[in-house]
Amino acid sequence: MKYQYSFMLSLAVLTATLVSAPTRAVVFSDTESLLPPTQEWSGKSEQLMVAADDPWVTPAERTGLRATPAYDETVSWLQKLVAAAPELQMVSIGKSLQGRDLWMVIASADQAFNAAAMRATGKPLLIAHAGIHSGEIDGKDAGLMLLRDMTVAGRNKELLANANFLFIPILNVDGHERISPYNRINQRGPEEMGWRTNARNQNLNRDFTKLDTPAVRALIRVFGLWKPDLYLDLHVTDGADYQYDITFGGNGRRGWSPAIGNWIEDVYRPAINTALNDNGHVPGGLIFAANGKDMKDGFLSWSGDPRFSNGYGDATHLPTILVENHSLKPYKRRVLGTYVLLAETLSFLGKEYESLRLAALDDQQRRPKMIPLNFKRNEDQVPESVPFKGIRSERYQGEASGAEVVRWMGELVNTSIPRIFYDEPGVMAEIPAAYVIPVVWSDIVDRIAMHGIQVEQLTEPLTTVAEVYRIPDAKIAEPSAWVPNPFEGHIRIDPGKPVKQVLRTTFPAGSFKISTDQPLGELLVLMLEPQAPDSFLQWGFFLEIFTRTEYAEAYVLEPLAQKMLQKDPDLKARFEQKLASDEDFAASQYRRLMWFYEQTPFYDQEYLLYPVARIPTGT
Ligand SMILES: [Zn+2]
Repeated sequence: MKYQYSFMLSLAVLTATLVSAPTRAVVFSDTESLLPPTQEWSGKSEQLMVAADDPWVTPAERTGLRATPAYDETVSWLQKLVAAAPELQMVSIGKSLQGRDLWMVIASADQAFNAAAMRATGKPLLIAHAGIHSGEIDGKDAGLMLLRDMTVAGRNKELLANANFLFIPILNVDGHERISPYNRINQRGPEEMGWRTNARNQNLNRDFTKLDTPAVRALIRVFGLWKPDLYLDLHVTDGADYQYDITFGGNGRRGWSPAIGNWIEDVYRPAINTALNDNGHVPGGLIFAANGKDMKDGFLSWSGDPRFSNGYGDATHLPTILVENHSLKPYKRRVLGTYVLLAETLSFLGKEYESLRLAALDDQQRRPKMIPLNFKRNEDQVPESVPFKGIRSERYQGEASGAEVVRWMGELVNTSIPRIFYDEPGVMAEIPAAYVIPVVWSDIVDRIAMHGIQVEQLTEPLTTVAEVYRIPDAKIAEPSAWVPNPFEGHIRIDPGKPVKQVLRTTFPAGSFKISTDQPLGELLVLMLEPQAPDSFLQWGFFLEIFTRTEYAEAYVLEPLAQKMLQKDPDLKARFEQKLASDEDFAASQYRRLMWFYEQTPFYDQEYLLYPVARIPTGT
């Protein structure tokens, strides 16, 4: 016992040392001095804040929307509200890695607190979460104010008359508790904030297909159970300065859900823009500086891969809006803008439920023969210039960096700049009728099933024509600024050019057959085609196939090679040609013998064979 005690004590000391070890040479008491100038702002939405002595003031309002409450304070405030409001209930949708509950508030005027009852109300369902990146927490404090105003305060009670609402105040709860004023150097408040990734340094907003994290698994379960009509993922930007304080958008018009993409741009955006403008905010579309620095080369409109919430929504035909508040606008302005967007979305859903439902149905029912596995820039198209509410910038020579650096001057500039779309289909894939996965890869099938994709396990052997891929030139992917390697706890694989082979084969009973003829069929393709950026193969889930595991020595390969040379003049000619043309080959006993070995049935027939088979359509 004593030994155990002292061990635990030393462990505690070690942990404390690790946590308090000085990692910053300089402590900044005034991070504001690092940031570009801010603009004076006041807007009608400020009237949404209640006085500090109001019985239902939120913890953030009590600070004038300068600070944000910790997890415990947030949860206890919500519990108090829920106890007082018959329209609200709170459920835990799962636990974080560190054991915290992932709370979701259910708001329903009909007190429809389970999925079936809620569907029976016939009202549209909005789901929103904040804090998938916990430093970007505006949505949490906006949501608390809105839930109060829709219930006990009565100010916005009518919002629940025609719509239901699910609200997850903090998705990355463990990251939220890694609190510091230093977590986001390029963000104006709150005073202290949480951290982007979870307690295992996983980014939840890269986890929507592979589903490594409990939080995203829980969210996907909620999607499957409650079947929301619209999903909002609330963030704060990094990057360039501009006038817009709240930017939002879907995954574009040309993604995997074109009807939804058009609905977001043509139906949703104008109404939400009007409400935000009326309340003193400056709404815009999602903005990424084309050159990564300033707006001189225009901005990008990006279509996300399904690892991201907006890409996932697009691939699964769940109408999804990514909201990015502008990090350089003060916290109060950002929280209030989020409130207006949430409130207007609920009100608007009540009016436009039918048009949204039809758009989603259109995309859920379409069964394209081919789909893009990724999107790229259309290099042939000259980007169109569009009006842009910018901030003047200049560049100066950085003494520390030794290179040009952007300085934002704070002065408003209304101009036109190129808008560059990254929505041109990249690699196209023909959609098969089904995929077959051997039973030994059931861990992959488990993850596929978590998405709500229907999976059949064969009870009898299935003999059929099938297509398989060999992946001869796969390699560990080159890291990039956006996708390092390892990435998210995975070794990323560059599949090179897979080679398709058609064969007639028998899949044993127990194999998993997964049809693409289902609403999530396109997501299935995006997880199983080797060339899709979010395929399990590229995420490194099939690393075993890249190891050759049976061996042969020279004493047996030399006589084998000689026999082959004697028997096959054509092979002899090819060998001689190879010797003459490839010096390294000619000098390597190993490569020379392997060249013969690979052409015999002794060689591993499953090496570099992707184990997921395609059953083509019409078979
Ligand atoms: Zn974010």
